[in-house]
Amino acid sequence: MEKIGIIGGGFSGLLSAIHLTEQAQQPLHIYIINKGSDFPKGIAYSTVAPWHLLNVRAMGMSAFPDDLGHFVNWLKQHPAYSHKEEAELKMTFVPRMIYGEYLQSIWNNFQAKIKDQGLHKLSLIADRVTGTEINDEGTALRTEFNGTINVNKVVLAVGHFAPSALPFPDEVLAGHPAYIGNPWSRWEENFEDRGGNAFILGSGLTMVDTVLSLLNNNFKGKIYFSSRNGYLPKSHGNHVQTDFFNPEDLTSWRLTDLIKLYEHWANRYKDEGRPAFLAVDKFRPLTQQIWNTWTIGEKKFFLEHYKAFWNVRRHRIAEEVHVVIKNALADGKLVLIKDKVHSVTADGSQLQVHINGEKEKQTLSNISYFFNCTGPQETYQHSTDPLIRSLIDNGHAQADDIDWGLKVNDKYACIKRNGQASDSLFATGCVIKGTYWETFAVPDLRKQLKALATNIVQQPQPTVVS
Ligand SMILES: Cc1cc2nc3c(=O)[nH]c(=O)nc-3n(C[C@H](O)[C@H](O)[C@H](O)COP(=O)(O)OP(=O)(O)OC[C@H]3O[C@@H](n4cnc5c(N)ncnc54)[C@H](O)[C@@H]3O)c2cc1C
Repeated sequence: MEKIGIIGGGFSGLLSAIHLTEQAQQPLHIYIINKGSDFPKGIAYSTVAPWHLLNVRAMGMSAFPDDLGHFVNWLKQHPAYSHKEEAELKMTFVPRMIYGEYLQSIWNNFQAKIKDQGLHKLSLIADRVTGTEINDEGTALRTEFNGTINVNKVVLAVGHFAPSALPFPDEVLAGHPAYIGNPWSRWEENFEDRGGNAFILGSGLTMVDTVLSLLNNNFKGKIYFSSRNGYLPKSHGNHVQTDFFNPEDLTSWRLTDLIKLYEHWANRYKDEGRPAFLAVDKFRPLTQQIWNTWTIGEKKFFLEHYKAFWNVRRHRIAEEVHVVIKNALADGKLVLIKDKVHSVTADGSQLQVHINGEKEKQTLSNISYFFNCTGPQETYQHSTDPLIRSLIDNGHAQADDIDWGLKVNDKYACIKRNGQASDSLFATGCVIKGTYWETFAVPDLRKQLKALATNIVQQPQPTVVS
């Protein structure tokens, strides 16, 4: 029986397992090894906070590329949504915990099907893979508590890494009770208002989640958040882009041409009284293709100068969430700090955050909560994750040319240090964003996961240690 180890049990791990068994030509033994967030919900859908909404409308969230109505049809059977009309359901941004229930129901059905068929075997292991040893005899996955698991092939479906190191000396924060280094750790479940104020470093979607959790827990203090560029998350409103570029429109366009094209459409939409962000959506189905045509220099230039601009237009929030954020800003409950954090000092159980403005310095005192919402660790060359370290140090994988992920080929096979494509190690999701760019959200991942399974089952079977 061929053995496949899937490292990571979020959306990508679950859907990889399903597509692999559906396409397999022979019986498979699939090991899903997951630790860090709940299987099969992953970081995004493990939240139990009902105010954390999806940032994609229900109609965009089907798990299956060949059944795009799957999620909405599932919602129609859900007691909380069954009374709603389909048209309304499609446009809804449902709580992420409901999407977690959806993934759980997909897993339950899948498990039952595998049991009925009696062909494949599934092993779900709650553990962390800390390293791999790949040689002519097969692949050994080293785990924290379950020893070594020997397999023929591996899918890396590890998702996002914990937030990056802070952009200023942070010795004071390590171990300080006010510091929440991982905003996805479900801190809100044990939240007690200790008085004082909160400071959020970052201004993206995780900042929004954090503000909502503080407000819903009746946090009394002020909530400061820092955004160097002053960008604030935008609302989807009730806009849906249906007019996309064709591949021919974009053939051999350089980054600079695309920026002009964006500006042209953004201005045109503005003139028509529509939001400029629809110009970003117009590129949506082609972003992976566009990224592929750029040079390394163009990719680096884009990440340095346009990433924040793009992300704020691309990753938008539900209108109802936007209203809460806007009102909190208007009330002075939420305060935008545009200047750079210089340092943080401890003041007993609280912190002081020192800000270096262009004109003046200021200190924010009585900070009882400091959240690192700067986004996941992005460097792979210098990754501190034990698994990624082991893969790179052992030459089984290498960082991509812009050090934004692991380098893979068009079959999602990792490229080894010697430049050859691995026949046993494959990667998907965030970990390959340097090669594919937009490979984060369900609408991007669902197609990729099916294609990944096709590539894996078509590979000849490498050996396995018995
Ligand atoms: C807060 C948040 C909100 C989001 N909202 C949306 C949304 O509304 N719509 C949308 O389409 N997308 C959203 N996304 C994007 C989301 O990442 C994808 O939709 C999808 O959930 C990614 O799934 P994944 O399986 O690739 O990664 P993850 O969900 O991160 O799962 C990876 C799993 O692997 C585990 N793991 C990592 N390393 C190891 C190891 N060495 N050994 C064992 N286990 C390991 C992790 O702990 C985790 O459980 C959101 C992301 C975040 C972070």
